[in-house]
Amino acid sequence: MITTPRIGLDVGGTKIEGVALDESGEIVARRVIPSVPGEEGVLTSTAAIVAELATGAGRGVAEFAGVGIGIPGQVDRANGIVRNAYNLGVSSLALGPALAGRVGIPVSLDNDVTAAAIGAAFTMGLDGTVAYLNLGTGLAAGIIVDGAPVRGADGFAGEIGHLPIDPRRRACPCGQCGCLETVASGSALRAYWPAGGDHPGRALGAAVAAGDPDARLALDSLIDGAASAVRVLGFTVNPGAVVIGGGLRLLGSPLYEGIRKTLADQEEASEFIAALRLSERVRVLPEGSPAAAIGAAIAVND
Ligand SMILES: [Zn+2]
Repeated sequence: MITTPRIGLDVGGTKIEGVALDESGEIVARRVIPSVPGEEGVLTSTAAIVAELATGAGRGVAEFAGVGIGIPGQVDRANGIVRNAYNLGVSSLALGPALAGRVGIPVSLDNDVTAAAIGAAFTMGLDGTVAYLNLGTGLAAGIIVDGAPVRGADGFAGEIGHLPIDPRRRACPCGQCGCLETVASGSALRAYWPAGGDHPGRALGAAVAAGDPDARLALDSLIDGAASAVRVLGFTVNPGAVVIGGGLRLLGSPLYEGIRKTLADQEEASEFIAALRLSERVRVLPEGSPAAAIGAAIAVND
């Protein structure tokens, strides 16, 4: 799939994960460093990890075809600009050209969830049309149609977390009410199951197993919302596989099996939904996979 060595970075709110890939797409170096917020912080830290990855791979930076970056926020890929990356303290930054000026090789940007979709399809050997559902602090999808990532006219493709579906109409930071993200995400979980603290994904599974009814309700709500997200993706692009990833993966099989069972029940009730075969097409991104960093590297323009 690739023929030149590349570097890929997954720039998140707390850490930057980076990989160096060789000509055949094998990982030859991997690093994780803490994120530094603010425009200068993002530039300095990404430049530092690029140098570390090249050293780790035993090559000079100039020997790589480019750096690919997956970053949260609205990405203008053509101009290398990221906007509204709030958890990095960045409102608008021409990260592509600015970092290219520091490291001396081309830099391309992608939304982090799109990058994860590309990386998931590559590492899991999934061809054709693939949807990647990220259940993290928020809810968003990355979409690949017939092998090509779909980014949309303005970089908003896959932002299905802001589809209003919930009649309880909780306020969403986007300005709407009842968004899918207010039902099925880490931030939703924190709001409706406060007992779980700041990292409810870790605590929820144990509380459900211990028979806590509030935790059970919270998990069921999460499963329902996630299953709705999978159906939205099913009807939009009819994927051959739907890969689930993101921080809520910590919940493990109670989440995945719950999503599969909800979809299977809906398939039993509707031949129309059954024809999408979603319950059998749900897959789980392997634990610890640096999918967004790998996908960003693969998406580097040759
Ligand atoms: Zn919203």
